Amino acid sequence: MAIGRHLYPMRYAVAAFCVLAATLLTRIFGASFADDSRLVQHVQTLFLVAVVVSAWWGGLGPGLMATALSTVLIEQVVIRSAGQTPWGVESLLRIGSFVLVSLLINSLYASRQQAETNLRERARLAEFTAATGRALARGDTATAALKECLGVILDRLDARAASLWVPETGDGGEWRLLSSVRADASGDGASGDGASGDGGSESPPLPPPTDPRAMATGDGGAATQRVYSLSMGEHPVGLLAVTSAPEAAEQTRQAVESVVHEIALALDRWQIEQARREQAESLALALRTAESASRAKSEFVASVSHEVRTPLNGILGMTGLLLETSLAPEQRRYAETVRQSGENLLTLIEDVLDFARIEAGKLEPSAERFDLGTLVEQVVQLLAPAAQQKGLALQVRLSPNAPRWLVGDAPRIRQILTNLVGNAVKFTHEGEVLLHVTGAVTGPQTADLIMAVQDTGIGIADDQLARIFDKFTQADSSTTRRYGGTGLGLAICRQLTELLGGTLRVSSRPGVGSRFEVKLRLPLASPPEPDAAAEARAVDLEGVRVLVADGNRVTRTILREQLASWGMRVACHARGANALSALTKGASSGDPFRIAFLDVNLTDVDAATFASAVRADPGLAPTSLVLLAPLHQARQAAKVAAAGYRATVTKPVCPSQLQDTLLHALQSAAARDAGGGAPAAAPPPPPRTDARSAPHSAAAAAEDDLRLPDRASEPKGRVLVVEDNRINQEVSHTILTRFGCQVDVASDGREALDRIAERRYDVILLDCQMPGMDGFETAREIRRQESFRPGVPDALVGFSLISRVPIIAMTADLAEGVREQCMAAGMDEYLPKPVSPARLREEVARFLP
Ligand code: ADP
Repeated sequence: MAIGRHLYPMRYAVAAFCVLAATLLTRIFGASFADDSRLVQHVQTLFLVAVVVSAWWGGLGPGLMATALSTVLIEQVVIRSAGQTPWGVESLLRIGSFVLVSLLINSLYASRQQAETNLRERARLAEFTAATGRALARGDTATAALKECLGVILDRLDARAASLWVPETGDGGEWRLLSSVRADASGDGASGDGASGDGGSESPPLPPPTDPRAMATGDGGAATQRVYSLSMGEHPVGLLAVTSAPEAAEQTRQAVESVVHEIALALDRWQIEQARREQAESLALALRTAESASRAKSEFVASVSHEVRTPLNGILGMTGLLLETSLAPEQRRYAETVRQSGENLLTLIEDVLDFARIEAGKLEPSAERFDLGTLVEQVVQLLAPAAQQKGLALQVRLSPNAPRWLVGDAPRIRQILTNLVGNAVKFTHEGEVLLHVTGAVTGPQTADLIMAVQDTGIGIADDQLARIFDKFTQADSSTTRRYGGTGLGLAICRQLTELLGGTLRVSSRPGVGSRFEVKLRLPLASPPEPDAAAEARAVDLEGVRVLVADGNRVTRTILREQLASWGMRVACHARGANALSALTKGASSGDPFRIAFLDVNLTDVDAATFASAVRADPGLAPTSLVLLAPLHQARQAAKVAAAGYRATVTKPVCPSQLQDTLLHALQSAAARDAGGGAPAAAPPPPPRTDARSAPHSAAAAAEDDLRLPDRASEPKGRVLVVEDNRINQEVSHTILTRFGCQVDVASDGREALDRIAERRYDVILLDCQMPGMDGFETAREIRRQESFRPGVPDALVGFSLISRVPIIAMTADLAEGVREQCMAAGMDEYLPKPVSPARLREEVARFLP
């Protein structure tokens, strides 16, 4: 095989030699070919063998050449037979020319061979580059891609080891091993490590790369390590060290240098990824820290609020009790101030707590069906006393287009509106405050609501407008002194509105007034059940002629809009005289007014005189008179109403009250017509607002608190007050004793259980937070003992409801879920502290036998 390889480049010469050898053999074994055709055949066979040997060994070229040569020789030497020229000379000439031709062909072949080798080498390089590119693109992360790329270098270039180094953070010029691979002992495949640099037991530690500027180093002849500098422009991003066998070093260098840029790019990507990961980690850490700080803050605020509420319960409770005693006017004023300040403090705590909850993201808006009309009425009824005390007209205008039933967080919407209307009342000295609610159905399922609170108050300067929604910010420094407040209300309103997905905007002019506008998009809800009665009422009012006499333009607009929305025919007048002549004219034309609303404060005519005039005219008998009077003039209005008014509607006029009054007036007129009885001044129907669901009004509470204690001689029941705070024990004890209960006090759960073992109680008031055995544990223990009371037959265990003592939780902890916790522990009611005397009596009374 070795000889064959050496001869191969001269295969044409070898082919020629084969043919000549065949000729020579012919000459030696045959004297003449002239007449011997068999001999010619033998010679031809011999040449054929030479051709076949040449073609088999040398390939197509030498084969063809041998064929041509054989043909000529057979022609010249064998068939024609030698004679004219000596065959030896002719043969030598022919051999010489064939040798020359053969050499020429051979050199051509050699250069082709070189080109082929180059091409193969280039293809190998291209394949390596492509494989590297694929490896770099394949990895999910830059780290994985780089590792895969090292594997390709190892596999494709037959390298012994490859490693990647990145600059150490800091300017020490140190390098850190990022990834390395190393051909294992058996020489197939690769092993490597992540970034440890030691490579594990199968991969002995790689030597750290030498100075990249040296570029090439040896390791004693057994292998050559070359270090390549990887950079992005001027910026070095890493080093690549490749170790290979010395004979392959040059090829490896060429190959690696062709992919150095791609590897640098991937390394750059890795560094960006790394920086991003580090940034994300530090952000996550910062977020965790912030969240835990915020949690700690909310917990702190909640516990502070709890701690403040407990003494506040004492202050408000004691002041309430003090106000129930007979006091000199000056003393009463002082006590009132104490109570007012206590209530302000309570509002502040509630605001701060709300704010902390919103900021901690703990406030989840609820989504329940609610009646927009009722919600709006609750807000104005809560603030009407404060407005009327200042002589302000508080008006509510609920657009007939506004959908009534919606889905949303009604308590939060009420809180926003109460805050805005409260501010409007606070910052307005004369004129009016209007709560104007409009709405439009925007789709099959949703409606847009605009709730605007407009006042004619002090207004806000332009430069203050943007700031008033910031927490603890007031328009100017004199505000606190003059009006009190904390500057938290609007910040809470805005945050709540945004929480509900809406917007809160303000426009204002100093000295003219302000307008705060809440916009919400809410889902529509269907009414709870088909309200047949309401439909009947709407039909009843259709076409009924009604007159309104009121000096206030806004009141007239609101009433006109509301009454017309029920299909009534409305006429409005600002003066009583005009109203009276309109009534007379209507009666004489045969189309009398069935109802006439008259404001108690008309300037040109006294309401009682007006009623007498109407009653004196028999033509006006079908007209029912209804008096319009502000809430604070209720007593005076009652006297006037006796002069001939069928009902009184209190201002601010709420749609539900208006509708009830109309219905009532029309029905009693119809009854009178049917029975022929004399007109009687009927009492106005009570407002529809549910007292339990309405927010507790401070004024109402004050009135309740001043109610005289019930000193019935018979005790109303026996109550156990379980409370650790001595002052609060006294407050509850006094309130309930005055209410007519027999009261025992226990300072903690254990003591309470002892008392319960001694005697039966009708109600237990249980504080939740107490040292030792707390309220929850005590309640659970009481319920457990009730279920397993000795003497109760087994069949009744768990059904001993007859002996179940009602437990009312009293707690200053208003955190979410505490009520549920109380109920789960077996308590029956939950009262947040501070509890007003009236509320406490009311709740206890509910459970007394
Ligand atoms: P507070 O009322 O407790 O001071 P708010 O956040 O409710 O706090 O209001 C912030 C400030 O915005 C008020 O102090 C007041 O200066 C201004 N402001 C709010 N509402 C009105 C209003 N209707 N008219 C004039 N100024 C107002």
